[in-house]
Amino acid sequence: MGMNTNGNPVLTTTVEAFEKLINWGRANAVWPFQFGLACCAIEMMATASARFDLARFGAEMMRASPRQSDLMIVAGRVSQKMGPVLRYLYDQMLEPKWVIAMGDCSSCGGVYNNYAVIQGVDKIVPVDVYVAGCPPSPDNLLYGFMKLQEKIAKDHPLRSQKVLKELKTL
Ligand code: SF4
Repeated sequence: MGMNTNGNPVLTTTVEAFEKLINWGRANAVWPFQFGLACCAIEMMATASARFDLARFGAEMMRASPRQSDLMIVAGRVSQKMGPVLRYLYDQMLEPKWVIAMGDCSSCGGVYNNYAVIQGVDKIVPVDVYVAGCPPSPDNLLYGFMKLQEKIAKDHPLRSQKVLKELKTL
């Protein structure tokens, strides 16, 4: 902390410390998209209930619009017909955005090993965390969410290729 020539306080820091602050804010204010596809969605809804209390992690603000969300929890099997819709909604979400594949069906097709179901949602959107189970309990999803927070905490938002590219054009 110092003063500039006008006598105003100036705080200096490192890029790493500033990134930590950004990551802390992002990891503790994730807004999930209200988006359930099958039976796993019931367990996802339960995580927001008083018993499991997703609000402890700052993520209880489930939004009804992809434009207000930065986390897609794919809760349930994804049919071939639903795949393009899911991708369309994902594209409308804010950057940076994350995806949790909740349950065996969304992770790898699960018990639906047939032509009608996409054998893993990672074929259409990038997945950050996979939560195993059929269905995974709300505790499983909370654990997966904590893993996502750990991943966000290791991010380098000011040193990403996209930011460096933009800095070079200045
Ligand atoms: S993983 Fe199990 S509970 Fe979840 S959508 Fe598939 S069949 Fe339903």
